[in-house]
Amino acid sequence: MTAQWIDGKVIAATLREKVARQAAHYKSMHGQQAGLAVVLVGNDPASQVYVRSKIKMTTEAGLRSIEHVLPAETAEADLLALVEKLNADPTVDGILVQLPLPPQINADKVIAAIHPDKDVDGFHPVNVGRLATGTGGLVPCTPLGSLMLLKTVQPDLSGLEAIVLGRSNIVGKPMAQLLLAESCTVTVAHSRSRDLPALCRRADIVVAAVGRPEMVRGDWIKAGAIVIDVGINRVPDPASGEGKTKLVGDVAFAEAAAKASFITPVPGGVGPMTIACLLANCLKAAAMRRGWESPVF
Ligand code: NDP
Repeated sequence: MTAQWIDGKVIAATLREKVARQAAHYKSMHGQQAGLAVVLVGNDPASQVYVRSKIKMTTEAGLRSIEHVLPAETAEADLLALVEKLNADPTVDGILVQLPLPPQINADKVIAAIHPDKDVDGFHPVNVGRLATGTGGLVPCTPLGSLMLLKTVQPDLSGLEAIVLGRSNIVGKPMAQLLLAESCTVTVAHSRSRDLPALCRRADIVVAAVGRPEMVRGDWIKAGAIVIDVGINRVPDPASGEGKTKLVGDVAFAEAAAKASFITPVPGGVGPMTIACLLANCLKAAAMRRGWESPVF
C-alpha cells in the first residue's frame, strides 16, 4: 500500500478562508473586527518567525492583530499586568502569550492569568477541564488541527484504535481527549512505555508527537493505518550541502507511507493547521463572548 498524503496546506487554506468569511460577517454584525493579541517576550528567533507568520495570517483573515513585544528581561509581574489589561480590554477577543518564556517567568502562572474565554491556545486549566468533561471551551490548536486532518479522510472515528505518542499538555494529552470524545479506543504512550512498536502496530490511527526525528518506523505501522505526524525536527541534510538542514517529522515518512492508507507530510501537514485553528479559535472566542454561535467548527 502507498499512502495518500493529507495535504495540510490546502486544508488549512480552506479553513482560513472560512474564518475570513465569518470574520467579515462578524464585523458587519458587531461593527468591529474580532481582535487577537499576541505577546512575545524576548528574542527567540524561532518564536519571532512564528509570531510574524501569525500576525500576517491574522490580518489576512480579517481579524485585528494586536502585538506586544517585550524585552527578554521583563519581570513576571509586568507580564501578568499586561495580561490583566488585555483581559479587561473589550476589543481583545483572544490572548496568546508565545511560549517558551524567559526563565524568570513562570509560564503556568501566566497561562492561568489569561481569562479562560480569551485563552485561544486552550491551555488554561479551565479549558483543559472543559475538554476533559466535554463541556465546550477552547481547544489547543495543534491537536484540534490534527483531528481536523484526520476527519477529512475518516469522518467517523468511532470504535477505532488510536495511539498518541507523547503526553505533553499542549499536544499529547489534549489529542488523546479529542480522540476519546470521537469514541476511539485511545492509548497514550510516552518515554516510559514498553514496546512502542507493538503498541503502534495495533493502532488504526497513529498520532506522533514526541519530538524525536523519524522515531516511528515503517514496521510499527499496521497496514492501512492513518498516520498524523505532529513532530517538527530540524536535522542536518548533508545531501543538500555542508551545513544545510531540513525539517523532518517524528515518523520515518517513506517507510510509513508504504504501509499506511493516509499520512501527513512534514512540512505541510499539521504545521499549517495550527495557525489556522488559532484564527478559528479567536473568532470562536469573540462569538462566544457575544452569545453568537460560531459556525467555524
Ligand atoms: P514535549 O517535549 O513537551 O513532549 C514530548 C513527549 O514525547 C513527552 O510526553 C515524552 O514522554 C514523549 N517522548 C519523548 N521521547 C520519547 C520516546 N523515545 N519514546 C516515547 N515517548 C517519548 O513535546 P511537544 O508535545 O511540545 O511536541 C512534540 C512534537 O510536536 C515536537 O516535535 C514539536 O516540535 C512538535 N510540535 C508541532 C507543532 C505544530 O504546529 N505542528 C506544535 C507543537 C509541537 P515523557 O512525558 O515520558 O517525557
